[in-house]
Amino acid sequence: MAYSGQYGQYGTAMNPEVNGERHDSLFFNGDTPDAQLASQVNAQMNLGPQIPGYPQERKRTRRHRDAHAYDLSLMEPEANYLPPLTPSTPLAPAAQPLDTSGVSSEAVHEDTNLLDPKTLPSVPDARFQDQSTYKNYIFNSMDKANPPLSTTDFIGYEQNNSSSKFVQMTTYAIPSSNDVLNTSGLPLGMIVQPFAETRPDEAPVPVVDYTTSSPPRCKKCRGYINPFVQFTLSRSGWTCNLCGSENSLSNDVYNPMLFTNQQNGFSSQPELNVGTVDFEVGKDYWAAEESPQPAQYVFVIDVSYEATSKGIPKIAAEAIRDILYGPTPLHPSIRVSIIAFDRNVHFFYLTPNLEQPRMISVADLENPFVPFKNGLSVDPMESRAVIERLLDTLPSIVEDIKVPEPTVGNAMECIKHLLKETGGKSFLFVSALPTMGLGRLRYREDQRLYGNPEEKNLWNTQDKWYSLLADELVTSGISIDIFFTPTAYVDVATVGSVATLTGGQVWYYGNFVPERDGPRLKQDLYRSVTREQGFRVMLKTRCSNGLRVSRYLGNFLQRTPQDIELGGLDADKSIGMLFNLEGKLNNALDAHFQTAILYTTPMGSRRVRVINYCCAVTSRNYDTISLACVEPLVGIFSKIASMNMATESLKAIATKLVEGIVKLLSCYRKVASSRLTPGQLVLPKHLILLPIYMLSVLKSSAFRNGSIHSDVRVSQFRFIRASPLSQLMLNLYPQIYALHSLQPNECIPNADDPGCTPIEYPLCVRASRKFIEDGGAFLIVTGQKVFLWLHQRTSPLLLQDLLGVNQLEQIDSMKACELPEMDNLLSIQVRNLLSALKLQYPHISMQPQIVRQGIDGSEGEVFSTLVEDPSREGVGYVEFLTMIHETLHSQGFK
Ligand SMILES: [Zn+2]
Repeated sequence: MAYSGQYGQYGTAMNPEVNGERHDSLFFNGDTPDAQLASQVNAQMNLGPQIPGYPQERKRTRRHRDAHAYDLSLMEPEANYLPPLTPSTPLAPAAQPLDTSGVSSEAVHEDTNLLDPKTLPSVPDARFQDQSTYKNYIFNSMDKANPPLSTTDFIGYEQNNSSSKFVQMTTYAIPSSNDVLNTSGLPLGMIVQPFAETRPDEAPVPVVDYTTSSPPRCKKCRGYINPFVQFTLSRSGWTCNLCGSENSLSNDVYNPMLFTNQQNGFSSQPELNVGTVDFEVGKDYWAAEESPQPAQYVFVIDVSYEATSKGIPKIAAEAIRDILYGPTPLHPSIRVSIIAFDRNVHFFYLTPNLEQPRMISVADLENPFVPFKNGLSVDPMESRAVIERLLDTLPSIVEDIKVPEPTVGNAMECIKHLLKETGGKSFLFVSALPTMGLGRLRYREDQRLYGNPEEKNLWNTQDKWYSLLADELVTSGISIDIFFTPTAYVDVATVGSVATLTGGQVWYYGNFVPERDGPRLKQDLYRSVTREQGFRVMLKTRCSNGLRVSRYLGNFLQRTPQDIELGGLDADKSIGMLFNLEGKLNNALDAHFQTAILYTTPMGSRRVRVINYCCAVTSRNYDTISLACVEPLVGIFSKIASMNMATESLKAIATKLVEGIVKLLSCYRKVASSRLTPGQLVLPKHLILLPIYMLSVLKSSAFRNGSIHSDVRVSQFRFIRASPLSQLMLNLYPQIYALHSLQPNECIPNADDPGCTPIEYPLCVRASRKFIEDGGAFLIVTGQKVFLWLHQRTSPLLLQDLLGVNQLEQIDSMKACELPEMDNLLSIQVRNLLSALKLQYPHISMQPQIVRQGIDGSEGEVFSTLVEDPSREGVGYVEFLTMIHETLHSQGFK
């Protein structure tokens, strides 16, 4: 059924399915109903009987050769032709340099609409198709196919390679030399998300105990033992797959009696069978003399005037209560403290035997200190009564205190003192620019700088105090997540740099409205505390001889070129890296990559997570392009751009982004010219979405020209640096669900074909006004926010079914949208959809913000997500393709 789009015709939408019938059985309660697939995965993990259709681990018969992720001999030339493009302007002379000013809308003629946008490569179609493919198919990590898209809900089965949830490559055919790489036009890069969340029905990362010995490592390159090493016939040694060195093997590590014919011989050893493994390690890997301690968490609440006027203490108190005493309490070994600050830093004494919390304030502006130790960090369950009392009373106590100047730096300094022995995490609220105490800052936002070279200064830190502090925090294994809820300039560039350098996160809520944004902030805080994370982190990637990491991309501290350090690293962070080729790789062998992450769990275990990946090597640049993968490629391009924000102008960054695509396509033209039809823009099969994603990167608030508040821009480009692919891709191109035209089977569990998705997902509409129908209601899911956009002529029946109101004017869009539990199909469908999305994207708050057409000021934010349209953010999809086509023409590619 569909709701009629036009006001007054809603009678056509009357349907027994939405009137009066109960649909309890249709409601999906958030549990994954996929017991069947789960049992298949588990059966495979236990190496039980073979399941038809799902291959068991393959045997290795020749050195390295069978570990290829792809068999290049099977490849067919593949290209994707776009419909003929008619250049909007006369072709540029060949010598004309690439002009990215064409990215602005002014440079584009209005008559470029010679191409039907419907025929252009569609992100929603590709995502829908991919989801359909993997609904009933387990992706094996050695499969000869590009991995599922980051927006696909799928079950991964990890073989010798790590799951694509942990690691993705820009291409799955590694060029054998710099020549091959350069003529492919691709950056050779990898994106790892070490603590990526896996599904409950996927095998967890195995933990192998090496606390009394040490995991076997290569004596030369220090690589960790993994499924790709080769054992000698006598089983007394192994050859390193990374550097080729021979290593001896101690009998106490692997008992030769355990050798079988399977795999490397040790079927019971996870590190020889699966790509991702955690080694639990002993003293040699400790960061200090003392054994690692369970982490401490510190909640630091801003109670200065700006914060109290927005109800931040109340929101924070409610969120902390949910976290500590909700359905899934913290691990019992984690201790917590609560601190507040305005001009002073306030500490709370929370020992279990107290009836009332006691507060001790430190007023020393230049030398803040922690005034007591015992009773500050407590077991939240033992001290539940006193903590709850504090959370009850704190908001009202601070309500009337109107101290305008928060000493954020002093609060950070106290976090350092408090956590320096144990490491841990702090969750810090900041509502105003710190103008007093340590790290006091001046107001420097200046709109006159927008568009000038000096604008860049606004994106860099203005006081080294913060970088030095971050350095100390990383050494102590501390990371800070900062929740900014400002009304005015707060200098995210400087204050937020502490989060960026320690591996924490900046959460920025511009124009914070407590009733509307408070619930989202609470969910974000909950996620920030409860997601998987590690502390005192060191990360290093080793690779085959001839390859070398040339640059790490992300938010971290880098003291040496070889590795990076973070106070903490969590499930929702990714690190990119670029590789250099030094010399020539043997294309009879594979290229191997191993990322090792040394970290301490919140419970105090010291571990090394090892992520292994192996790819084929090729001497044909055509293979390298054909096996390129669009999402990691976009991820690497945008991470490079965001890393360059400190040193390059926006124009230079935009130019490089466009040059990146043009170079790739011109290389493809060169290497595949005999197979391609002249005169058409042609893209490699796996890269058909590259232009639209790159256009989105250019139009994002991180990189586009124009008047963008520096706090917004900085928080966005730092988000791009660190966000995982799933969040980044959604942010670049949203999922837009047309709620008014949902079919009866959509967003409902499918009992006949449950597959691995909890509901049947509908096909989304494209991010263009051309597809936003009058009278429609759309759920727009971006990587950071969800909107419920309602056209001004949305059917009253739909409004009634979904929100329990008859008119748009009855909706208070300044309040968070709570969908009422209505007994009709649409209500069930939309609530199901949000629950399913919440399961799939636990890192995104699925609390929609209601935006009514023509009424709410936030509509501009919604329209900026419609990236296919020309707008003040930049040209449209058609114009962008035309521009690329013209540039290729100008370079002589007909
Ligand atoms: Zn080695």
